[in-house]
Parts: sequence; structure tokens; C-alpha cells
Amino acid sequence: MKKFDVIVIGSGPGGYVAAIRAAQLGKKTAIVESKELGGVCLNRGCIPTKAVLKAAHSVHELADMKDLGIDVELKGLNGGQAVKRAKGISAKISGGVAYLMKKNKIEVFEGYGKLRTNTQVEITSSRGHTETIEGTNIILATGAHYRSFPGLEHDGKRLIGAWEAIKMEELPKSIGIIGAGAIGVEFAYFWNAFGVDVHIFELQKNLLPIEDEESSKVVEKAYKKYGIKMSLGVEKVSAKNNGNDVTITEVKGGKTVEHKFDMGLIAVGMTGNIDGIGLETVGVQTDRGFVVVNNTYQTNVPNIYAIGDLAGPPLLAHAASHEGIIAAEAIAGLHPHPLDKMNVAGCTYCQPQVASVGYTERALKEQGIKYSVGKVPFTANGKAMASNETEGFVKTLMGEDGEMLGAHIVGTHATELIHEYVLFRQMEGVDEEMFATIHPHPTLGEFLAESVLNAKGRSINF
Ligand SMILES: Cc1cc2nc3c(=O)[nH]c(=O)nc-3n(C[C@H](O)[C@H](O)[C@H](O)COP(=O)(O)OP(=O)(O)OC[C@H]3O[C@@H](n4cnc5c(N)ncnc54)[C@H](O)[C@@H]3O)c2cc1C
Repeated sequence: MKKFDVIVIGSGPGGYVAAIRAAQLGKKTAIVESKELGGVCLNRGCIPTKAVLKAAHSVHELADMKDLGIDVELKGLNGGQAVKRAKGISAKISGGVAYLMKKNKIEVFEGYGKLRTNTQVEITSSRGHTETIEGTNIILATGAHYRSFPGLEHDGKRLIGAWEAIKMEELPKSIGIIGAGAIGVEFAYFWNAFGVDVHIFELQKNLLPIEDEESSKVVEKAYKKYGIKMSLGVEKVSAKNNGNDVTITEVKGGKTVEHKFDMGLIAVGMTGNIDGIGLETVGVQTDRGFVVVNNTYQTNVPNIYAIGDLAGPPLLAHAASHEGIIAAEAIAGLHPHPLDKMNVAGCTYCQPQVASVGYTERALKEQGIKYSVGKVPFTANGKAMASNETEGFVKTLMGEDGEMLGAHIVGTHATELIHEYVLFRQMEGVDEEMFATIHPHPTLGEFLAESVLNAKGRSINF
């Protein structure tokens, strides 16, 4: 039986990063993967969706070219080509993970891994061949799958989830999207730009309900302009596959309305892949669909760790990777800083983009925390004007001691701009340090400082 210091099960952004960090720390490491290296993120999630969103954004940019003095004609849209390109990018990056495994001398086992004991993993290959390997420590990184509810069940044909959606080369004429979180909102943006009739259904009263309400409102306004229909704050919604089409039924204000679509996307949350991996055999504790871990991602079985989507929210790739690093360092006897969930940024890559870190205004009010608001619109930013992209704002929520409680950016490049605020919060910066930081001009980023100035009543450019 092959023996390792660390065995990682699952090669998503949690697992492959954990494996590399363990190898860097001198641990003999193996990784077990049943599908493509790189996990959901690289193959069916973050990366391919960003590729098709680029295509969708380009459609909108093209429509604005006349303003820039460029007379172009849009001759046709081919959503299938956008999806094909996304698949190609995934394949390339998955190949990159294979290279990284080799470079770091991590042995890759292709197959489905299952705990036999707390130190043994049985691997069953797609051809049915089994092999057991032994590890002093095991990191579980098996990810998550979509949640279904009664009346909202995926059938993989007309009622699909995100993984089928991103592979779909032939776009339907119409689609109902249930769930207005990042996944639902991003697919709505892509499909609408490529001519699909899109209608979003959401129980909460806003798109992107976990974001600051003002951010959601900007996206809602833009979506209305694009012609995306929205049923927000519905009391109940259900979906049924009729064979040739689907019916989505919404109840709002006690009134029941039926809508017909070619297809339905159900995007109402995820739950950890806790079944079939032998957790019961070794007594690993779970709670409401996720593995229970401490702040170094150790489970109740001391040599077994769980990271990424499997270990619960935030279900984000960058959180998964960071958790992987913490787990590997803890195994190697280091003392990594615990992850502060309040410093994990949330990003949605539709246009306008939405990015945030820390508290929303709603949460501060609920918790009775005192704050001041800085808010500057991109309409007042020279670079945004020059780029013809003035939609959105930078909003900061500052505490009494000058600390940043929360930040919310909506607009072009919001998901890139948020990094400065993440670092600022991580380094426990205060407003005076932001003011002392000279931001290049003209940039969108200048408004990160301007917003903090605005919270202090010291705005210069707004
Ligand atoms: C459409 C979509 C878009 C997304 N966009 C973003 C985004 O823009 N930014 C962001 O941060 N997050 C995004 N996410 C979320 C992100 O994909 C996940 O948070 C991230 O992939 C979690 O990483 P992970 O390593 O925990 O698990 P995963 O990436 O799910 O990887 C788990 C891996 O484990 C393998 N596996 C499972 N069980 C076994 C087993 N028993 N044996 C062997 N292998 C096994 C699976 O095949 C998979 O490869 C998106 C998700 C979706 C669905």
C-alpha cells in the first residue's frame, strides 16, 4: 500500500491548493480526483462563467461603440461559440493544474476516494479498479452540489442547474431562472445578451439579496434596461417539466401566475458533498449538509481536515483555497492565522459588476453598530467618464475609530477594485492611512479613497 503524509480528496481550488502547500512544506502528498482536475471552479463554475460573461459584456460594449465614434454593426450572435470558448479555457486551466501537481511532486490518483479508516482511502477508478492508499493526514475537499426543494427539483433536461447551464451550446429561446444569487444573476446576464428571453424569480425582495440593498438596486435598474424580467419578493415559486417546455408558477400577493419557458435554471443554493465518502465509517461530524471543522479546518477526527465548499459557507473559490493553505500549514505544525470570514469578498461578474467586503448597512443597523456612509458615484469620476462606463458607485461604511466596517462597489471592474479594501481591512487600516495613500489619476481606484473621504465629510471631487 502506498503511504503519504497527506492525502487530499478532491482537486478543486480548495484541494489542489492544499496539496501544493502541503508539498511545499515537505509533505509527501497525494491527491484523488474523480472528474477533471481543478474541480467545479475551473471546469463548471468560476472560470467558464467568467468566459461567457466576457462575451456578454462585449455585446453591450459593441452597442455603445457609436458614442466612441466607432461605427460597427453587430451581424450576429453565437452563444454556442461563447460556450465552446469557455470549455476550451477550462480544459487549458485544468491542464495547468496537472502541470502544477507534477511540478510539486504530488501524486495524482484518478478515481473516487472514500475513507475506509481514518488513515486509509479507497480509490475506485472509472473502470471499477480499486486501490487503497494510506495517509497520516487526510484533507477532504469534495465540494458541493446543488440543493433541490420539493417543487424545485433538477432533472438535468429542461430543469437544469449551473453545471448543465454552462455546457449548453444551444441556447433556448426563453428561460426562467429561479434564484437571484450570483449564479442566477450571472447566467441571466449572459443569456439575455445573447438574445434569450430571461425571467428571474426570487423570494427575497432584491436581486443579489446578500449584497447591500443599494448595490442590488443598481443591478436591478440595469437588468430592467436590458429587458430581463424580474419577479422579486415572490411568496412561492415552483417549476415543472412538461416535456416540451417548463411551467414556472409564482405566488405573489396571494395571486398565482403561471409562466411558460423552454427551460428553467434552478439556482437556489448548494449543499456539501458529504455522502458516499465514508464520513460515517470514521465518525466525522456533519451539520446541515456540511462537515463541522474548527478554525484550522480540522474535523472532530484529529488527523482529518475538511475545506472549501464541503466545510460550509462562504462557498467561494478564494475562501476554499485559503482554507486549504490553513489546513496544510496546521498539519505541518505551523500556526496559520485563522480566516476572517468578514474579510472574504463576494463578487458577481455581471455588468455592472458587484463586489463587497465586510458588513452591509442592513447588518450594521441590525447589530446597532455606529457607522458613517461615504458614497461616490462613478458619474463623478473622470476615468469612468472617459471610458464611457459611469454606472454605479463606491460606498464605504466607516466606524467611529476610522476603521472600515464594510465596502460595496458596483460598476465596471468592481471585482478588481475590491482588492484594495480587502487588504485595507485585513491590515486593519484606518481612514487616515487611506487618505495618506496616493491613488494614481485618472483611475476608477481614486474613488476608493474618495468614498472614505466622503464618509468623513471631506470629499474633494464629489
Ligand atoms: C456556476 C458557478 C459559478 C461560480 N463562480 C464563482 C466565482 O466567480 N467565484 C468564486 O469564488 N466562486 C464561484 N463559484 C463557487 C466555486 O466554484 C466553489 O466555491 C469552489 O469550486 C469550491 O471549491 P472546492 O475545492 O471546495 O470544491 P470543488 O471546486 O467543487 O471541487 C471538488 C472536487 O472534488 C471532486 N470530488 C468530489 N468527491 C470526490 C471523491 N469522493 N473522490 C474524488 N474526487 C471527488 C469533484 O469531482 C471536484 O472536482 C461558482 C460556482 C458555480 C457553480
